[in-house]
Amino acid sequence: SNQLMAGKRGLIMGLANDKSIAWGIAKACADAGAEMAFTYMGDAFRKRVAPLADQLGVDTLIDCDVSDPASIDAAFAEIEAKWGKIDFLVHAIGFSDKNELRGRYVETSRDNFLMTMDISVYSFTAVMQRAEKIMNEGASALTLTYYGAEQVMPHYNVMGVAKAALEASVMYLAEDLGKDGIRVNAISAGPIKTLAASGIGDFRYILKWNELNSPLRRNVTIDDVGKSALYLLSDLGSGVTGENLHVDAGYHVVGMKAVDAPDI
Ligand code: NAD
Repeated sequence: SNQLMAGKRGLIMGLANDKSIAWGIAKACADAGAEMAFTYMGDAFRKRVAPLADQLGVDTLIDCDVSDPASIDAAFAEIEAKWGKIDFLVHAIGFSDKNELRGRYVETSRDNFLMTMDISVYSFTAVMQRAEKIMNEGASALTLTYYGAEQVMPHYNVMGVAKAALEASVMYLAEDLGKDGIRVNAISAGPIKTLAASGIGDFRYILKWNELNSPLRRNVTIDDVGKSALYLLSDLGSGVTGENLHVDAGYHVVGMKAVDAPDI
């Protein structure tokens, strides 16, 4: 344990279960002395998230659906009433119809395109509109993206297009909020088996491919992502904003990805 986040208060959005990237980040922040509140989506998740909150001594659990502006308002009103100001925010939220996370991108429907963009892209901007009003100088915000924004990855389809827009919004938010000393960054995580990832076609194959082709010859874990998040969320990252930090065992630098995984 360390004291990198001692005295800092923050909101972690997107915790579903103990496989969530948000959980890896929450554990790293707790270990560094942060005080946190969690949002989750829907009653069904409360019973899964409550014991996790207990484990880290988090007593504020807020049901927040980012597709509903009133729900975001209510969540931030609750945070403001509790703390006044915050020092960090994690947005670990994404969603698309899993029927369109396989096959051809060209077949994406308008309805799912708009829904994917709303939940996976606009929600970060919507959240930052509220967050900037209650963020202390030196505060740090973080979202999660994937390499499918930069290069075509099988089955990622409309989520790739959404992540490209999310990465662009990180740059624009960094510019807007930088004047107030607020930093905005993304982590581009390698593939990790989570609930959201289970919607992506052939995900096991993608994991194996990444393991065999990454410079580190392994996949990353939510704890790897948590440690890098700690760098961006704490004062260690004080000079870094608008950045997209790849926490992917180096996969994104490899030009010739040649090792196939024929047995799966
Ligand atoms: P996860 O399923 O644990 O988390 C996704 C979260 O999004 C869930 O908590 C879910 O409740 C929430 N969510 C969905 N719709 C919502 C809505 N309308 N309102 C509020 N919350 C909503 O999966 P994860 O893999 O930890 O995903 C977290 C983030 O990491 C996502 O943005 C995902 O795209 C990104 N990411 C994941 C991987 C991976 O391989 N798992 C890789 C790179 C980036």
